[in-house]
Amino acid sequence: MQSSVLSGKTYFIRTFGCQMNMHDSERVSGLLDSCGCLEVAEPAEADIVIFMTCCVREAADTRLYGQCSSCKSLPAPPGGKRVIAVGGCIAQRDGAGLLTNLDNVDVIFGTASIAHVAELLEQAFVEGGHHIRCEEKDSGAATDMPWHRAENYRAWVPIMTGCNNFCSYCIVPYVRGREKSRSFEEIVDEVTGLVRIGVREITLLGQNVNSYGRDLFGAPRFAELLRAVGDTGIERIFFTSSHPKDLLPETIDAMAEVPAVMPQLHLAVQSGSSRILKLMNRRYTREHYLALIDQVRERIPDIALSTDIIVGFPGETEEDFEQTLSLAEQVGYAHAFTFIYSKRAGTPAATIEDPTPRDVILERFNRLVKVIEDGAYAYNQHDLHTVVPMLVEGTSKKDATRLLGKSPKNQTVHAPIPEGYTVDELIGKIVDVDVDRARTWYLSGTVVGSPR
Ligand code: SAM
Ligand code: SF4
Repeated sequence: MQSSVLSGKTYFIRTFGCQMNMHDSERVSGLLDSCGCLEVAEPAEADIVIFMTCCVREAADTRLYGQCSSCKSLPAPPGGKRVIAVGGCIAQRDGAGLLTNLDNVDVIFGTASIAHVAELLEQAFVEGGHHIRCEEKDSGAATDMPWHRAENYRAWVPIMTGCNNFCSYCIVPYVRGREKSRSFEEIVDEVTGLVRIGVREITLLGQNVNSYGRDLFGAPRFAELLRAVGDTGIERIFFTSSHPKDLLPETIDAMAEVPAVMPQLHLAVQSGSSRILKLMNRRYTREHYLALIDQVRERIPDIALSTDIIVGFPGETEEDFEQTLSLAEQVGYAHAFTFIYSKRAGTPAATIEDPTPRDVILERFNRLVKVIEDGAYAYNQHDLHTVVPMLVEGTSKKDATRLLGKSPKNQTVHAPIPEGYTVDELIGKIVDVDVDRARTWYLSGTVVGSPR
């Protein structure tokens, strides 16, 4: 799709939040590339600045206001006129309301309106003024659009959008709408196409991948999807997120039996207290969650488990929090995202009074981080003095002579660049690393054998 107005314009995208948003940014970028635009690394060099926003926690709102307002002081862009656009969850939630706080925004497009971003930008350049589009329902058009992948060896593949779960603290179902699964064939075809062009690793994306297909077939078909995607020849499959209430035995079987499914599972627990889980509307108990972990470990003994935990849900007591600590100790997560509860207007939890002082919540948060770190350190010791296949992503930020990549368990791995190779030759290759150091957040060692 060539556009005479947009052709030759430079653009910069800043993305906040989750992988779904990062993938949405790839779609926006693919669309702009197909219009003849050129991506640049700094907002100062861009005719078009796009913020892809997140509204899961308050901090992301604040960052958007700061960064978007600071665009006012940028030097004039190459084309003479700069258009500022806001997409993603805050755009979907606030629509035109965003203009009250941000008077320098020209284009606002919601999560279901990505397919229209080029025409909105064109209108802003030609006519000036504000151009806003926030459809309620996702037509699925965006998932058929061209997309610009940051890397050519791995890709995100959205399998569904939206969420039906309404956890009491979470804004996502209100903003991203109900669950909508992509067709089975479309996903398998997309992965087949990715394999053909050399992609080795995919991450299947959805807010609750375990319920994939419920809206298409009347029952979840995630296990079948894993098997079909595994048959495409893709080498590494990851997926996120899994809701514990919907993780079925057949999915655990598929994970254990499909060789390409990596031994890694992100299973958000949120809290270790059954009382808090009920208030969160998570629809499982501590005991159910721990029983699931046992089932998963029985089938995939060395699996790397990761999770999301919220500290400071309204009314959480010291006793509730200690239940979370003991659950984290018992599971021994390889990794965890820990969050302090953030009140989101419009969610049921926002109406619950909370007498807990902020410093108590912060102190609990720090105690949890320590337990998570100890668990991750202990988990990584299993890989000390073993050979780990790392998919090379580039070099370490701190040391350009060291390769950086990921293990099948999604651990970060470092190793010096082997003699006779350049980094560029190795990006996207798998190299075996003989691990001689296992720390909390990484493994390191030396490359052995030949890259493949
Ligand atoms: N659908 C995914 C799941 O349930 O596993 C999670 C998606 S959400 C974007 C990512 C994480 O943000 C959640 O698992 C939760 O831990 C955290 N989160 C969501 N709402 C939050 C809130 N109001 N305050 C703090 N953390 C929150
Ligand atoms: Fe939010 Fe819960 Fe849906 Fe995850 S499952 S997106 S936490 S409502």
